Amino acid sequence: MLRRALLSAAVFSLFAVNAHAARDMRLFSLKTQAEYSGFKNTGRYEEVEALCRRFEEHHPKQVRCFEYGRTPENRPMLALAVSNTGALTPDAAKRRKIPVLLVQGGIHAGEIDGKDAGFLALREVLEGKAAAGVLDKQVLLFVPVFNVDGHERFGAWNRPNQRGPVEMGWRSTAQNYNLNREYMKADTPEMQHMLALVNAWDPLAYVDLHVTDGAQFEPDISIQVEPVHAGDAALRVAGTALRDGVLADLAKQGSDPKPFYMSFAEEDNPQSGFVDSAPNPRFSHGYFLLRNRFGVLVETHSWKDYPTRVRITRNTIVSLLSQVAQHGAAWRQTAMEADLRAAQLAGSALPLSYKTTEKSRMIAFRGYAYTRTPSEVSGALMTRYDEKTPQIWTVPLRDEIVPDLQVTAPKAGYLVPRAQAAMVGAKLRQHGIAYKEMRSIFARQNVEVFRATAVKFGAQSFEGRQTAAVQGEWQKEERLVDAGALYVPVNQPKARLVMALLEPRAPDSLLAWGSFNTAFERKEYMEDYVAEDVARAQLAADPALAAQFRQKLADEPEFAKNPRARLEFFARRHASWDERLNLYPVMRVDVAPVGFMDL
Ligand SMILES: [Zn+2]
Repeated sequence: MLRRALLSAAVFSLFAVNAHAARDMRLFSLKTQAEYSGFKNTGRYEEVEALCRRFEEHHPKQVRCFEYGRTPENRPMLALAVSNTGALTPDAAKRRKIPVLLVQGGIHAGEIDGKDAGFLALREVLEGKAAAGVLDKQVLLFVPVFNVDGHERFGAWNRPNQRGPVEMGWRSTAQNYNLNREYMKADTPEMQHMLALVNAWDPLAYVDLHVTDGAQFEPDISIQVEPVHAGDAALRVAGTALRDGVLADLAKQGSDPKPFYMSFAEEDNPQSGFVDSAPNPRFSHGYFLLRNRFGVLVETHSWKDYPTRVRITRNTIVSLLSQVAQHGAAWRQTAMEADLRAAQLAGSALPLSYKTTEKSRMIAFRGYAYTRTPSEVSGALMTRYDEKTPQIWTVPLRDEIVPDLQVTAPKAGYLVPRAQAAMVGAKLRQHGIAYKEMRSIFARQNVEVFRATAVKFGAQSFEGRQTAAVQGEWQKEERLVDAGALYVPVNQPKARLVMALLEPRAPDSLLAWGSFNTAFERKEYMEDYVAEDVARAQLAADPALAAQFRQKLADEPEFAKNPRARLEFFARRHASWDERLNLYPVMRVDVAPVGFMDL
């Protein structure tokens, strides 16, 4: 009895020592909890904080861990600058013309492959076990988790269409924003900090690591790069080479990668096939092309298990590091030349949005056998996939992408009136766009104005905004421009971004996101009985106007039936009519105004 007790005490203490040793070892290890668990679990954010510091301690000459901002819940937003070149600051990288590759995980914090794959790739590369020498040619900027607060909203069922890890973070931020719609409007502190990081480091390529939603099939990853369909012509050639290089590397490692997002043309209907598209700049790969830099959207397939997805994401990061090591210096040069070309775009026609044509071709796609049968639950057709029975689907792919909205840039730039200067100026600074502020008071200027002929507001709140879509054209007018107005020249490296923010019809312009909605709200009005008198006075004074009114009644039955429109016909011609109603406050000029100071 005694012996047994002594023995079990000895065994117990041996276990305790071993457990302590294992824990101590982990405290110094560069492995993630995910790796220790065989990629069943993923760690909490405190692990990111610890690993960030530990990578720097283990590799002080190659790694710098730093905080680039705070979240709304006051968590540190962390990045690791990693290079063998010694250039671990933005200034050093810029001075020595070293390409910067920014790899960002967890913009949707439930899709957390990028964090665990990034730490794994980083350790292997630093230890010379993968992609030897790549850190001699570049700076890797690794942001393990972008949506940090979302990452700490941790739970088991945050991703119902995804296999693992056991628990994960949440899609949106603590303020319930989707950061993956934020690149242009940048309402959130998180995105403002990210844009500041980007402005400082000017990465050649920005890699945004996600996991898909959607159907079940065999292909395991998509890699979408811009410029490929849009942006500077020479950069599109380089972007295509970057994309195809990564696709080839992944195929060699057994993946079946696709260059388009794998969601069906018709939801839930595999036979409807796929439609490729050019992204709007609310998304990272649509945004970075406007800065003449590469945006890379990586989506692993949510139905592959977590170990598989982390391995494929790790392969993608290693491939990107290799591609940039091989071609980054030349691509960086192309990007600098694209900046110079962009600084000559004033007066040229530029596409602001793209569309996919109806032209399609049939592709063989590795799907699974499936059935579509009536559902007594939904009352509609339901789809069931049989993952044990691979099946080649022959389905249409539409991938011919052409410019949709094209607008000619002003010959000089945009003028932002003083009343809107604070709001617009803040956005311009967040995006690193150059502008000047008007010092002296000016009289009237020949400008172009945009008077909306139609305005359609979004029916419901979207990302905290009420969106607006306008129709109309720029037209010449003389208007008073006062001190405090901002002048934003088109001729600067970010010319495309300037137009995307300030052209009223651009899909993610400030106007489109609802920043100017008050310009389209009527605030003063004429009582009907006053309007009746005004109409009669105008009819009596102007026989030509009276004839025009009668003609309109005869030609336009909708107008004739609408008492309010009939009265407004005259109110619009009265001195009390608000000439600013539906006038977009931002103007365009063909000649750079004088009297501005640089900001
Ligand atoms: Zn996502």
